[in-house]
Amino acid sequence: MNFKVMMISALVAAGCASERQSQSDFQYSDERFADLQMLRYKVEGFENLSLKQKTFIYYLQEAALWGRDILWDQNGKYNLRIRKVLEEVYQQYEGDQNDENYQAFVTYLKRVWFSNGIHHHYGSEKFVPGFSEDWFRAACEQCEVSVEAAELDELCNVMFNPNILQKRVNLAEGVDLIQSSASNYYEGVSQEEAEEFYGNMKAAGDTLHPVMYGMNSRLVKGADGKIFEKRWTTEGLYGAALKNVVKYLKLARPFAEDEQQQKVIDLLVKYYETGDLTTFDQYSIAWVENTEPLVDFVNGFIECYGDPLGLKCSWESIVNFKDMEATKRTETLSKNAQWFEDHSPVDAAFKKDKVKGITAKVINAAILAGDLYPSTAIGINLPNSDWVRKDHGSKSVTIGNLTGAYNQAAKGNGFTDEFVYSKEEKELIEKYGDLCDDLHTDLHECLGHGSGKLLEGVDGDSLKAYGSTIEEARADLFALYYLPDQKLVELGLTPNKEAYKSSYYSQMMNGMMTQLVRIQPGKEIEEAHMRNRALIARWSFERGKADNVCELVKRDGKTFLKINDYEKLRTIFGELLAEIQRIKSTGDFKAAQALVEGYGVKIDPELHKEILTRYQQLNIAPYKGFINPVYTAVKDAKGNITDVKIDYTEGYAEQMLRYSRDYSNLPLVNE
Ligand code: ZN
Repeated sequence: MNFKVMMISALVAAGCASERQSQSDFQYSDERFADLQMLRYKVEGFENLSLKQKTFIYYLQEAALWGRDILWDQNGKYNLRIRKVLEEVYQQYEGDQNDENYQAFVTYLKRVWFSNGIHHHYGSEKFVPGFSEDWFRAACEQCEVSVEAAELDELCNVMFNPNILQKRVNLAEGVDLIQSSASNYYEGVSQEEAEEFYGNMKAAGDTLHPVMYGMNSRLVKGADGKIFEKRWTTEGLYGAALKNVVKYLKLARPFAEDEQQQKVIDLLVKYYETGDLTTFDQYSIAWVENTEPLVDFVNGFIECYGDPLGLKCSWESIVNFKDMEATKRTETLSKNAQWFEDHSPVDAAFKKDKVKGITAKVINAAILAGDLYPSTAIGINLPNSDWVRKDHGSKSVTIGNLTGAYNQAAKGNGFTDEFVYSKEEKELIEKYGDLCDDLHTDLHECLGHGSGKLLEGVDGDSLKAYGSTIEEARADLFALYYLPDQKLVELGLTPNKEAYKSSYYSQMMNGMMTQLVRIQPGKEIEEAHMRNRALIARWSFERGKADNVCELVKRDGKTFLKINDYEKLRTIFGELLAEIQRIKSTGDFKAAQALVEGYGVKIDPELHKEILTRYQQLNIAPYKGFINPVYTAVKDAKGNITDVKIDYTEGYAEQMLRYSRDYSNLPLVNE
């Protein structure tokens, strides 16, 4: 599974992550169109890798890019043909560039590129072209596109007729989910037939170690009425693309980090060649157990969000390497886990005698491809097979340079200027915000969730629906309580006793006000992380009222949060942590309910309206995606790679057109 941030701009803007002072003039933000903003990510540390590692990455990113058209065809059977025609018009058009129809056409093409097809990448509904069909047909004629008249009729119908292929993935109940979905995973098969087909397959197979039936094929009904799978292998469907994926995996193999990783590649190649799902499970096991290498990658049919039945996996790839600095940080915390447990402000009865910290893995993405491009996940947890996870574990990572890029891009979007009280807080956030937010996340993940214990006989589920909010609050408060601690300065994790204030300010502002931008007018707070943030901020605000620890002040009709006493605020966070831990350890449902319902759910409608109005005026794009860097291999006379150069200057359209030109060898119709 992957964790995508759905409304990343709102999340970043809401102060979940903050802003780092930019050390370079790297351009994180690129062009904007429709509801989308393009970003760039920096492959931090690529220059410091060895030539062997750079070469390994070079071949792996080639293997990644070769899978692109597979996803396009999976997303819908007209996508490759439509892309071809649109690109031909785009490249040959000689008419008026200021024409409204032309501009709408360019926006449409950029959206199609972004979604790897004609349906919205997130909502999955078909885009409505903003240009007329007449204009488009005239442009096609003028540009001499490579399709016949009858085919153009068919494609125009697909693009312009609002009544067909409305959704890529339909999950609404009451209709045949397969027949009402435009994704290209089934042909001539009803939902009932598909369910029966795979039900039988499952029943006949190994129930202890079931393979993921159906994950690498299209299910088809033949002319004779028989239902069968067309597998995606080097010799089957998508064979031309997969052959090139395999070719580059084989070229990468000699540069793998260790023998185990070579075995991973061998198994993956064997699986691509045979389509055998037992081999895929063997590959997954070898991959999940291969934890040592700095460079790692995912390449294959991985996630099943595109199939309404959740069986068929879309093709994706990411090549990445460990962020050593971030990993060092989490290792330091883990090593000192017992100290933090012993010194926390909670009752001794609720503490663990022996606590073990978790080392979170942070990686840097080097290339994004298939279903991870341009819209991407910020964290990945694989493999997806339940029994493999249970018996062999999983790898869970967060992608540091992507979250970093989101944060950087949020800088200068006007959010801080609009919502932060004064220059003083803005400077703190500018200077320390990103560092403290990373540290907050580390404390939360590595120590917070693992701290404390239940009293004997207490059922872990006693807090019921309030359980996850209380658990998130517990981890957040653990982090908030320790951020100002001298211990962090001693461990070299914070530069001084001032830095934490940036995080305190962001957290309180977020919980009191700005996270409300993610909620529709009239609705309440539902999501556990958001409830937790509201709970912490509002409870602490009220608790410190008598001493004027924090206040909400009005300026020009706008509300701002002001913190007057940061040290007192820490004491209050400590008190709330102690209480939340007591609730958790004793399973005090009533107290959990009172806290969550009293502080975490309701919204002041007037404040909400004000925040939404101010936010909308900033005009921040709700969805973001990434432009990849370009890798170039420098070779000697014998063809050996002597260096790999990385470049970040390629434009969005330029990149898409290059991919279509250099990494496209599938037939336009794949049957
Ligand atoms: Zn958490």
